[in-house]
Amino acid sequence: MSTGKDGKEAMRPVLSAVYHGTRETVGAALAGAESAGALLAVVQAALQHVEESVNGVRRESGVATACAVGCSFCCWLNIDVLAHEVLLMAAYVKAHRTPWEVEELAAAAVVRRDERAGLDHGARQRVRKPCLLLDDAVCSVYPVRPGACRRYWSGDLEACHAMWEDPEVTASVEFPLLQETGRAAAAGVHHAFVGAGYDGCFYDLPSALAEALTDPGCLERWCGGQKVFSEGAETRTPEGFRQAEALERLRRELGRGME
Ligand code: SF4
Repeated sequence: MSTGKDGKEAMRPVLSAVYHGTRETVGAALAGAESAGALLAVVQAALQHVEESVNGVRRESGVATACAVGCSFCCWLNIDVLAHEVLLMAAYVKAHRTPWEVEELAAAAVVRRDERAGLDHGARQRVRKPCLLLDDAVCSVYPVRPGACRRYWSGDLEACHAMWEDPEVTASVEFPLLQETGRAAAAGVHHAFVGAGYDGCFYDLPSALAEALTDPGCLERWCGGQKVFSEGAETRTPEGFRQAEALERLRRELGRGME
């Protein structure tokens, strides 16, 4: 499978099938889930589906990825997360750590949130700090990690290292076909949740995690189709882009049966 422009063109029907298949499958699973536990199980299955969609293309294309266990450069990057992804991680953390460890993580998340509170989009992107969920270079919530972490594949370890060492260094390390497949699957999941009436806002991971671990009302709000986290926890957007307007537009399009 080519990774050039022609290869991407040839992938278009596949990407469309990935998007629609994912959206329909996740939408049907959501319609049949009534309890918070059942809904979180749908979240986990949907994230697994994103991962497997990308892995399928990775195997088929034979691209040489450089990622390996214990390499965690990308866990220093800022990622956008959705409410259901944060709630799944919070539930996992509470089930696998002692109450004291949960409190310790929540306190660290509050500190990280406060450090980032005044930063605009560009400044946040330049922050280089390890993810709060990283433990000795290994993800401590690996089975429930967010979609963004499951679809990132690098082909150049040296470039990852260089970017990690110097925030001013930029390099293109990902594979377009894997990126596009991941995007299509992730969009299918996102749109299924938005179409079913759940919070579709993108959040800053440490800021949303701080709230998820300290406010028991978060899960209830999510199950009730309300906005889960505060405005302060939202992802900072580039100048001229408003997340609330984009989400409103998406809801309208989904209501009209967006293709
Ligand atoms: S959630 Fe896990 S995989 Fe994702 S950035 Fe954090 S430590 Fe890394």
